[in-house]
Amino acid sequence: MRISGGGVSSNPPAVSAIQPSSGAVQSPSQDVVQISAGDKIKESSNSEKTGMSTGAKWALGILGTAGAVYGAVVGHRMLTKPSIEKVAKNFSEIFRRDVSKDEAEKLVKKYEELLNIEDTEEFCKKAFEEVKKDYGYENIPITLKINKVKDVNGAGDAGWDSERGIININLLTDRFNGKVFEKNRRGRKCKLQEIIHEFQHAKQHEIAYRTSRDGIAEAIHETRGNMQKVKENIQSLLNGKKYKLEQQANKMNISVEDLRKQLESIIKDIDDKKIGSILFDKDERIVLDDLFEKLPILDKDSQEYKLGLKYIENTKNYVRPGNDRKGYHSQILEKEAENSEKIFEEIYNYFASPYRIPWVQ
Ligand SMILES: [Zn+2]
Repeated sequence: MRISGGGVSSNPPAVSAIQPSSGAVQSPSQDVVQISAGDKIKESSNSEKTGMSTGAKWALGILGTAGAVYGAVVGHRMLTKPSIEKVAKNFSEIFRRDVSKDEAEKLVKKYEELLNIEDTEEFCKKAFEEVKKDYGYENIPITLKINKVKDVNGAGDAGWDSERGIININLLTDRFNGKVFEKNRRGRKCKLQEIIHEFQHAKQHEIAYRTSRDGIAEAIHETRGNMQKVKENIQSLLNGKKYKLEQQANKMNISVEDLRKQLESIIKDIDDKKIGSILFDKDERIVLDDLFEKLPILDKDSQEYKLGLKYIENTKNYVRPGNDRKGYHSQILEKEAENSEKIFEEIYNYFASPYRIPWVQ
């Protein structure tokens, strides 16, 4: 609840840009309803005890009535245009970096223009590039794959493929209602939310990687249940063409002999947990390296590091939507990604709604 009576706002403490948003984002219209009903009434009755002047009570009464009338007129679902300060805070939360008011103004303009691109595919490509830039991934080779066939990747609609650094987007579906994608502004907004959602997963893997490279690689392997395959890959690397071994050694900046020794010792006392420390299932560890290797390792005392540990844990025990819907939505990886969609909804209200209530943040 962000609003109390008489225009005094009791905002929650500012959330650091790196922290995930805690709790659900309330829709502004709910706040409006509350201002007209709950708080006003409560404050009015409090004023009896505090000996508030008749004039003040009368003023509160007017405000309360105005609020009630507004609530009745605009109804529960009407959008409220948030302040630009709030929008800047929203962008900061989504992109996990400080976004100033000035930048927020530019971003709002950019996203509003994006939504006017009528060609769906062109829109998705541009939206992907812009969101990528705003997440700070301009020079990181995360790529977009546009699918035009229903149910291509199992989940059906959109997905972050951590093993290939790809974000899948399906042009045919709208994940929010499971129906065919609507070719209008609102439909495109939903696509933008999907893209933001998937980039949030990329961000989580970045933080996990910077927390523990081996940890996240291992977690991904565990999820896939392909430890046996990793062992086979080690074996085939050892027994295969020499140049492949040289390539791998080069990549790790060690001699071929050292690499061979390490590989052999791993095979000898095969402890699955250890496999993550040197990954030879090229395709994924190398992708994570390609994406995030240049970024600094996180300080163990940092908030991000703590998050990284949670992401690794969740990656290991990731609940797929088909198995357990409640578990799927309540795990941190999905909760955060879904929350970023809700936050973007507020940003969307900034340019979609002509109504601005001055005292609503
Ligand atoms: Zn997700």
